[in-house]
Amino acid sequence: MGPPGAGKGTQAERLVDDFDLPYYATGDILRAAVNNGTELGKEVKEYMDRGELVPDDVICQVIMERLDSNEASDGFLLDGFPRTVPQVEALDDALDKRGRALTAALLVDVPDEEVIRRLSGRRICVKNQHVYHVEFDPPKEEGVCDQDGSRLIQRDDDKPETVQKRLDVYHEQTEPLIGRYEDRGLLRRFDGRRPPDEVHDHIRATLATLRLEAEL
Ligand SMILES: [Zn+2]
Repeated sequence: MGPPGAGKGTQAERLVDDFDLPYYATGDILRAAVNNGTELGKEVKEYMDRGELVPDDVICQVIMERLDSNEASDGFLLDGFPRTVPQVEALDDALDKRGRALTAALLVDVPDEEVIRRLSGRRICVKNQHVYHVEFDPPKEEGVCDQDGSRLIQRDDDKPETVQKRLDVYHEQTEPLIGRYEDRGLLRRFDGRRPPDEVHDHIRATLATLRLEAEL
């Protein structure tokens, strides 16, 4: 878990390498289910074609289909699910039926003002979508792409007011989850303001310890 711009995707990629875990990012596994053309995939496709959100229990079934395939017998990493309290409950029920449970809920925490600074400083070139940051990775000439000379723009998604809206949604949805996982002793917090390598070392060490404890 973590706000937009916290670097969850980067951290997840590294953990998948470290621990050789299947990685279930919600959007990806829903698309994979559609492509596989299973009964469940057809159902997912109908929701997507209608432009509707895929219901919690259907997302949960897609994840469970993957768990039941044995590829996740040694563990798995979830990203983007659960995102709401009903999703937490659906996931718990489904894991419980299989005699399984979550090991930890990882939170990469970044304060709102830092998220806004990171995302609203991003600039993209209009020609090839090269990415810059006005503060952390500025182009040589302001507003111009170093690589192709095209104009740099700010995507609507990165405008401060849009970022703030995304943060509002994140806080509203995710804070209750954080509280729940904290109460159950599953929450592990990581300081997302630290450099990505450091965040990664910290998460890896935490998971290695939890794994050892689970084996004892
Ligand atoms: Zn460019």
